[in-house]
Amino acid sequence: MMELYKRGNIFVISAPSGTGKTTLCERLLKALPDLKMSISHTTRKPRPGETNGVDYFFVDKKTFEEMISKEEFIEWAEVYGNFYGTSKNVISQLMKQGYDILLDIDTQGAKNIKKLYPESILIFILPPSMKELERRLLQRNEDKDTIKKRVSKAGEEISQYKLYDYIVINDNLEKALNELLCIVCAERLKTKRIKHNEIEKIFTK
Ligand code: 5GP
Repeated sequence: MMELYKRGNIFVISAPSGTGKTTLCERLLKALPDLKMSISHTTRKPRPGETNGVDYFFVDKKTFEEMISKEEFIEWAEVYGNFYGTSKNVISQLMKQGYDILLDIDTQGAKNIKKLYPESILIFILPPSMKELERRLLQRNEDKDTIKKRVSKAGEEISQYKLYDYIVINDNLEKALNELLCIVCAERLKTKRIKHNEIEKIFTK
């Protein structure tokens, strides 16, 4: 059967660190092969286990600044003292290939994407409580200063939740994943995302 639904939809996921966003995004991508992650550029150093071109394109500050001046980013932001940006080229390649796109970006980025693409779908993932978030962050092998910064940034980010179209609370991973799948599925089935010419071909005599 002909593909009736348009692709090239942009799903944005934001969440304070420690919310389980990375695992949820990985599971979502595995479940939906026609949804692909946009790989961002960053000046942050890779963490153990991270690969260039898979988790991020890791670049130095000079390269990142050159990309800004050449207007190669759709949006970029400074987060925890490092730069992060979504490249126009990465997005246009994924669109050309007929995929839906998942952006894992912060609240500043989400705001900019919504301005540029009003049809984009913004999803915010919340931890069950601030206490639980702190507990999850403490389990990570990061220094106290970084954790403190992340907790304070989490508070700021959570205050932005009204910008988003959907809120998912990650109290239980399977439940949160199922809710994300429901959101993507329902958005894809919206009448405005149907290829009306294909419907007409089938149902008009
Ligand atoms: P991390 O260093 O933990 O991988 O990411 C830190 C923060 O940067 C996360 O909130 C993540 O969503 C955000 N981020 C990652 N890539 C981008 C991007 O391209 N643009 C923006 N605005 N934020 C990003």
